[in-house]
Amino acid sequence: MTAFRPLHLSRTDDGDNSDFSLDRGEITGLTPEEIVTRYEEVNENSNFLREMADQRIVDELSHGHTAGFSDGTDEIAYRICEAAQNGVKRLAFTDHGDATSISGHQRQGYYGEEQFQTPDLLRDALTDTLLDENDSDLRKEYSFDVEVAAGMEIDFDLDNQEKLIQYIHNQLETGPLDMMLISVHYDSEGRNVGYAKDFGPNADPEKVVEEYFQEMIPAAAEIADKFPGVTTLAHWDRPEGNPFLADHITREMYEDALDQVKKYDVVLEFNAKTGLRNILNQGHPTLGSRVLFEEADEFTGGTDTHRIGRSGKVDYKVNETEARLHELERAAEETGKFVPVLEDLDLDSVRIPVERVCSNNESFSVKDFETH
Ligand SMILES: [Zn+2]
Ligand SMILES: [Zn+2]
Repeated sequence: MTAFRPLHLSRTDDGDNSDFSLDRGEITGLTPEEIVTRYEEVNENSNFLREMADQRIVDELSHGHTAGFSDGTDEIAYRICEAAQNGVKRLAFTDHGDATSISGHQRQGYYGEEQFQTPDLLRDALTDTLLDENDSDLRKEYSFDVEVAAGMEIDFDLDNQEKLIQYIHNQLETGPLDMMLISVHYDSEGRNVGYAKDFGPNADPEKVVEEYFQEMIPAAAEIADKFPGVTTLAHWDRPEGNPFLADHITREMYEDALDQVKKYDVVLEFNAKTGLRNILNQGHPTLGSRVLFEEADEFTGGTDTHRIGRSGKVDYKVNETEARLHELERAAEETGKFVPVLEDLDLDSVRIPVERVCSNNESFSVKDFETH
């Protein structure tokens, strides 16, 4: 059988990990050496993964992408494996749905042809594809269960809100999806608020941020309020990563937007991607994160994973998801305001044999997993 090795201990092939300032061992409250010792103690067929999961402060990944449906680079099976390796109990697949296309509003979206308009296929991938009824080796006591959500990250579209509402209704109430996140990626001119290159010399940054905070974020919250399956507005601090807009964003704008959002049954997301990047670049969390930590009653958190981080493609020189999960846990621990959003959903469960899931050679196939 293949020895179990936690993913973060197998990343030494990345070369120089030393410039990553966070202590990755803190993720489970153990140093990497202690994890190795612990593993050797409990050895094979243990409930190590469950014990690891019990120590997690944040035990879900509610925001992430795949190669199958949008702009991620990893297959669903790898993401599930990664979740198990990190002791994550609940995992959502939230590939991009392009509302500008759904609403018939023709714009050149950043996500282009990668847009995810086939939720049925995702649902199939999470059930039929992973099912292996012939696998009799799976024994409950030696396996780890990951609950999986078929979700979508849908763009808010200021000009086509009724069509957006109808689309969300179709996917959640009668369609195949368990949940959705709403994100404001574009302004009303179809420019991606995260990218300076989308804004020409004649663009007015004041106007863009005003529209974003005063109109779009509150309107997106109002739509989310209509659906129990839409509980999250993702990365509201996204424009802060855009040098064209960043200097025009004030704390007051965030506070006013937060007051609006508080009227609705929705939580803002602390996005660990934008959060961690900002910390590494600026040495501090985004202003949006700080407002969330200090003034929101509660918030949720997403890693916004696009890739697992195998050698050569690694953000921050370590496993991308793991670093972001760590950042989420720091925020959750410091503030005590973190709320899980997948907990209340009725999700399919994937059972993963402990002795196979954490194989280091990535030779597992989707048939190694079983749903039940
Ligand atoms: Zn997004
Ligand atoms: Zn995303």
